[in-house]
Amino acid sequence: MIHSALQLAGKLLSRNKLSILIYHQVLAEPDPMRPSEPTAAVFDWHMRLLRDYFAPLSLDDALYHLQRNSLPANAVCVTFDDGYLNNLTVAQPILAKYSIPATVYIATGFSHGSNMWNDRVIFLFSATERKQLQLDDEIVQLGDWRDRRIKAQECLKKLKYLPIAQRLEAVDRFYQQNNVTEQPSLMMSPSQIKLLAEHGIAIGAHTINHPILKVMSEEQQKQEISSSKHQLESWLEKPINHFAYPNGGENVDFDERTVEIVKQSNFKSAVVTDWGISTPATSRLKLKRFTPWDKTPARFHFRLLKNITGL
Ligand SMILES: [Zn+2]
Repeated sequence: MIHSALQLAGKLLSRNKLSILIYHQVLAEPDPMRPSEPTAAVFDWHMRLLRDYFAPLSLDDALYHLQRNSLPANAVCVTFDDGYLNNLTVAQPILAKYSIPATVYIATGFSHGSNMWNDRVIFLFSATERKQLQLDDEIVQLGDWRDRRIKAQECLKKLKYLPIAQRLEAVDRFYQQNNVTEQPSLMMSPSQIKLLAEHGIAIGAHTINHPILKVMSEEQQKQEISSSKHQLESWLEKPINHFAYPNGGENVDFDERTVEIVKQSNFKSAVVTDWGISTPATSRLKLKRFTPWDKTPARFHFRLLKNITGL
């Protein structure tokens, strides 16, 4: 009932407005260190709600209609960042069940068995047999899950805007100082990315090393952006047309120089992480996105509608 009313409101207010949802992981089971990542059960109701009350489109179709002012009401695209293996093993079967198109943006430097630095930091804080961590000169006591989450987030925040080499050195050092062995990779290999593409999921580029592009030279940015495109094109044997800026905050994580490089690298679209909707007037190289985080279907639906209509 509430959904039908919200759907009607959306229909009246949302023509030629595109919502693009951002996901990262879809967890097979709940993970106490990642309470905000949806589990398979949560992602299932998200996708069912999109099928029942929205108009899910592939990014290519959405761009086509955006260009022609012919976007249907309640238009929505589903995207995933980074290239987690559970996009293939957990999310894809649910997307197929509800016939929802999606795009997955891959940071190609992690496709050969390594993990992203943030996942490596979270893993340090997550092993329950470890009651404390040595982080350079500091000893950090680890308590319950909440305490571990808070301390992991503090550590992530400290490292995030360090130059990439220093950031990775710090994580390597923390592993050595605590004698921790790396966890198996959470990311897809090239053959798993290919399999995902064969299931009809669009693949986009997301740089090689997932750096903060804004702090890099134009030469370095060019290398990160165009090499990830070419790598994916050689793995999949087809053109890669879509890009997602790592971390994705305009003027924080990338700037106009980056947008120009993305344009010169022949991408047709690029997505940011700043919240909002895209209209025919929005730059194709700065499409807005949105993270659905509500815990109940009615609130999720309402929030999506709010995003679309700007209410
Ligand atoms: Zn990312």
